[in-house]
Amino acid sequence: MLTLGAEHLRSIEIAAQAAFPEEACGLLVGHTENVDDIILSAVIGSDNVAPDARERRFEVDPGVRIKLEKDLRGGTERLVGHYHSHPDGPARPSAHDLEQAFEPDLIWLVVGVADGHANEVRAWKLAPGGAAFEPVALTVAALRKAQDT
Ligand SMILES: [Zn+2]
Repeated sequence: MLTLGAEHLRSIEIAAQAAFPEEACGLLVGHTENVDDIILSAVIGSDNVAPDARERRFEVDPGVRIKLEKDLRGGTERLVGHYHSHPDGPARPSAHDLEQAFEPDLIWLVVGVADGHANEVRAWKLAPGGAAFEPVALTVAALRKAQDT
């Protein structure tokens, strides 16, 4: 299960709408509790640096990822996944996404955008063997109280 805050969801939706009709993308930071519950703590937006066809391709800026992984080094939070949007497409990974998926530990958050409005967000990860994506349950939590952090 992936738990993210309402503010995380909002920032992803805003990025997806701002990039429309191109794909938006970015990185997800969090940690794991109870073996496979991933708790998101931050969303890091990136420019889509795909060299062309950014309406249906995305590439997170490698510099953003390198800086993030440096910043996270030694801490409890880690890179847990990434997000991208599908302009006028569904909130599930495409066949092309599957070809590009080679990191089995990463969550794929996909935002469906229709007519410029983010209308669906779903989470996925590679199934064992890597031949398909399988859904990951998504829970949106209210802002965490200060004593929980
Ligand atoms: Zn995609």
